Amino acid sequence: MIEYTKISAVEGYTPEEIEQEVSRLEWIKTSPKMELPFMQGEGIKSVIKEFKIPKVSHIAIHGGITCHLNEENFTAGLYGVRAHYGKETREIYFADAGSHITPLGSKVIPEEKPKRETPNKLVCDFCGKVKDEITFIIGAAKKADWCMVYGTGKMTCPDCYERAQKEADDKINGITGA
Ligand SMILES: [Zn+2]
Repeated sequence: MIEYTKISAVEGYTPEEIEQEVSRLEWIKTSPKMELPFMQGEGIKSVIKEFKIPKVSHIAIHGGITCHLNEENFTAGLYGVRAHYGKETREIYFADAGSHITPLGSKVIPEEKPKRETPNKLVCDFCGKVKDEITFIIGAAKKADWCMVYGTGKMTCPDCYERAQKEADDKINGITGA
């Protein structure tokens, strides 16, 4: 449930369009060395500073939203910032019309639930196989053991290890553009 700012309506943004465009935002986890396109980077930095947004964990910068303020509608940039206020995680949305940035609204995001506990029982996220509760290893294991795949948070069995590793590599390359 988005709580809309009064200024969003004054500036020509409709709740319906805000909701729709916000749902299409792609969120990226922030990191100290992340590189952003200049315009969006400056826009995001200025709103975080101006609105004193704490603990930003994710941002979204490639959205767009129609501004109905003038007779000629135009598309403003749409940004999102996910911040952590005490116990509450909140997403805040902004429209960048070039000359100025307008806060559109915000929404409380449910805390991510901790992964289900499955003591003594591991399930492969790739093939669904369940790990035997007791594993005998005779001699040297030829294959990788059950493990969490770096970058994906998924569990893989030995049979899916290669495939899982490739998926993780692809994901990491996709993020860094390498
Ligand atoms: Zn598997």
